[in-house]
Amino acid sequence: MGGPYREPHVGGRRLEPDPAARRKVRLAGLTTAALGVGIGATAPLLGPLAAAFGGGLALLGLALFREAPASPMKAPCPTCGATIAELDPSTDAVRCPACGEYARVTSGVLLEVPHDFVARDPLFVIPLERAVLELPAICAECGAPGARHLVRVAVSVRGTALDADAPAEIVDIPHCRDHGDGAAPDIGAVRVRSRALSLEAEISA
Ligand SMILES: [Zn+2]
Ligand SMILES: [Zn+2]
Repeated sequence: MGGPYREPHVGGRRLEPDPAARRKVRLAGLTTAALGVGIGATAPLLGPLAAAFGGGLALLGLALFREAPASPMKAPCPTCGATIAELDPSTDAVRCPACGEYARVTSGVLLEVPHDFVARDPLFVIPLERAVLELPAICAECGAPGARHLVRVAVSVRGTALDADAPAEIVDIPHCRDHGDGAAPDIGAVRVRSRALSLEAEISA
């Protein structure tokens, strides 16, 4: 007499398609395009500027429509079990909106992020209020200890990254002697490739 069949434990949470995410982006694109075409159609009454504006909106709408992620996925967070939706399967790691923990995206499953994990791009967040203090001597790019080489990064305090006038704060991000490119500015935060650095920064805060 056998028990109920159980899937073999694969050590991760399997990704499933998330069709809702793609629909949402495509719908936004279609709405924008329709609005653009509508304005364009009334242009004879409004003048050539309105026609140009309408045409631009229509193009933007089409671009949005095409930008819908090819195959957004969803899966339960390996830490808390909440669903992480609209995730891009080609990314390295995602942050769970429920518990704030990161999950690694790899070969169709979500896994807990090992402490020594290094992402392909700077994606682990260190909030600005923490980054302005002295950070642990861990290389932002490779996670090596004893990293004493400081790389300056200008972080927008608020506003958008595109806003050149937004006030910025300069922060020093530790790197080893071989590296200097493991950090990127975000709004009110720095992102680093090394999970160890972001984790140790949280702990030592
Ligand atoms: Zn979670
Ligand atoms: Zn390094």
